[in-house]
Amino acid sequence: MQEPSAPFSFSNSYAEELPDFYVESAPMAVQEPSLLQFNAPLADELGLGVGELPSQDLAQIFSGQKLLAGSRPLAQAYAGHQFGGFSPQLGDGRGLLLGEVAAPDGRRRDIALKGSGRTAYSRGGDGKAAIGPVLREYLLGEAMHTLGIPTTRSLAAVATGESVYRENTLPGAILTRVASSHIRIGTFEFFASQQRWDQVKQLADYAIERHYPHLSSDDDRYLLFLQAVSERQAALVANWMLIGFIHGVMNTDNMAISGETIDYGPCAFMEAFSPDAVFSSIDQRGRYAYKNQPQMAQWNLTRFAEALLPLIDKDNPERAVPKVEAILNDFTFHYEKHWLAGAQAKLGLENSDLDVDSDKVLVNDWLNLLEIYAVDYTLAWRRLADAAEGNSESLEALFPSSEVLSPWLNRWHERIAKQSAADSASRMRSVNPIYIPRNHFVEDALDAATNDSNLEPFEKLLAVLSHPFDERPELASYAQPAPENFTGRYKTFCGT
Ligand code: AMP
Ligand code: MG
Repeated sequence: MQEPSAPFSFSNSYAEELPDFYVESAPMAVQEPSLLQFNAPLADELGLGVGELPSQDLAQIFSGQKLLAGSRPLAQAYAGHQFGGFSPQLGDGRGLLLGEVAAPDGRRRDIALKGSGRTAYSRGGDGKAAIGPVLREYLLGEAMHTLGIPTTRSLAAVATGESVYRENTLPGAILTRVASSHIRIGTFEFFASQQRWDQVKQLADYAIERHYPHLSSDDDRYLLFLQAVSERQAALVANWMLIGFIHGVMNTDNMAISGETIDYGPCAFMEAFSPDAVFSSIDQRGRYAYKNQPQMAQWNLTRFAEALLPLIDKDNPERAVPKVEAILNDFTFHYEKHWLAGAQAKLGLENSDLDVDSDKVLVNDWLNLLEIYAVDYTLAWRRLADAAEGNSESLEALFPSSEVLSPWLNRWHERIAKQSAADSASRMRSVNPIYIPRNHFVEDALDAATNDSNLEPFEKLLAVLSHPFDERPELASYAQPAPENFTGRYKTFCGT
């Protein structure tokens, strides 16, 4: 096979500036890589210039068989608190950073493989990934992006042509993931737990320069860094809550310093509103249930703060504790601010600063109704836009009777009557999606790809989700919740 011409070249700031933070490692050889999916618009956005390459070349590149100019594949070191317990050494057991690209928008991005074979951090694992979890991450990452939520993205999925052995024998695949960076809270914990503060400082300086450059020359930069990361996480988790997303495995190694959603394992979107919802088969106690997500993010940030304390006050870390605690407490304030502003927008409420307290009651009463009557979370918000146009039938149809809804609906009408109603409905439709990755469609798409090598349902779903706010009558079925017998037994797996 001819060497594909090198359309772009990688840079390697992580490799060059953080020598102790990785082990160089080659991707495994793959017999017959074939392209399952390629995200050409994202490739363009990144300025990769690979759009014209034949798919065979893309499959070679994005399975790590052909390394492009400047690529220096490496497995990153990290630790992490998993379900509350500390694992001092995790690291990329099946991932490799190929390198970084400076996109035309000026932002540096990581390009990384997932499922590319064993590394120094694989422990007992095989370093591989099955097609189902690869396509799930591809789909969910792209869906989150079109929903407007910060996330890592998916550039390519390549079938390896080889089998992966889990509970069943499954076709193998490799995902190419694009991220602002792969620095996790767990990356800090890796060195902090070994009391190697020089390395923690190196990493903090690097992360500040890369993600929060406006802080880099501030004397209080480590404290401000904690604050900035905390605020981004508050905004991120508020977005998850507003959209009904359950991450499923919010361990500190799955929380990126950049504020992007990362690691789509046993995640799911909620249908009938239930604050206790948990889908992950490995989360038996519901630690990462929907309603616990803000508190778990705050818990993770506390681990992050512990790793930073000796940097914040190097003479006397204890002295920094009150300042750090103030920031951690502020997480709740920032979270609630983002959440309420988002909820007000979803309810079509303007002048949101004036009516904060009464709006909060209005939102919570709305959510109580959704919970009591187990109403589909996504459809409820969406159909409220119809009610803003004077047609409440589609909304009422989601409840057992119009009577249970009408007292609340009257209050809401009164609230919006105070504002210029002209475009309430269209504004509401621009923040309340009609299409989300419904679990039964996701599972059907992954099953077809896994069992029948049929990517059609996957591609169709991906296309539907590329415009989640534009209702199209011919796609009505994609807006519908799963049949009851599906949801009741639905569990997601890590896919490791
Ligand atoms: P995850 O639950 O996917 O975030 O993975 C947790 C840790 O397990 C990370 O260090 C992964 O790199 C590692 N890991 C997950 N699956 C595999 C696998 N099949 N082989 C080797 N390491 C893995
Ligand atoms: Mg992970």
